[in-house]
Amino acid sequence: MNTCGLCERELEHGYLCPGCTRATGERLDQMPKLYDALAAFLPPPGRRPEYGRAGGSEAPLPVAEPALNLRGPGGMVGVLEDWRSAMQADRGWGAPAVRGSTEERVRTAARGLSLNLEWIASSWPMAGAFAEELRDLERSVLSVVNPPERTRRLGNCVELTADGSQCGAVLRVADGAAEVRCAWCGAVWPPDTWMTLARLQQAATPPVGAPVEAGAAEGHPSHV
Ligand SMILES: [Zn+2]
Ligand SMILES: [Zn+2]
Repeated sequence: MNTCGLCERELEHGYLCPGCTRATGERLDQMPKLYDALAAFLPPPGRRPEYGRAGGSEAPLPVAEPALNLRGPGGMVGVLEDWRSAMQADRGWGAPAVRGSTEERVRTAARGLSLNLEWIASSWPMAGAFAEELRDLERSVLSVVNPPERTRRLGNCVELTADGSQCGAVLRVADGAAEVRCAWCGAVWPPDTWMTLARLQQAATPPVGAPVEAGAAEGHPSHV
């Protein structure tokens, strides 16, 4: 008697139960879309990681950008390609060819795993660990793309960066939060600055007939 490697339900045979197999397949199908969705959460245009706050050697490192990390080499593409390579090795196949943009590689690796899902569920002892890591990966992406906290858009960060321009990252305030920290440059904005930030925002964007809070509709990040 086996147990499902993900939900631990008892199984007569195989390594993933039908429900977890289906959920894993859906997660694999979602991976390219999630990768795309993260693009909207990248740092403001023109900002590079080394342009962290104030730039000097004394300056704190920029806050880790989860969207950058997930879209980087060790993020989604790394996780998917590692599992695909492991799967192909255990099937006695050669290493998968890796080519194209990161976006294409995410798509290819997810598809390669998806096409072998039946074998993975029935015959691969690593199936549980694979399904679990995939679920964690999806969770990490969703926490960026669709944060569980209710937040509303406050305005754009006006902190000056090393090159003298404004940071420009979108600032969001969580319900009940006492301060807002810019996820990109790390500047902290206490509540007495919020009105000013909102006003600056309104001044910068011509009348839209909606209060700044309208930006709170999640899933549609408005990067400027
Ligand atoms: Zn299961
Ligand atoms: Zn900032």
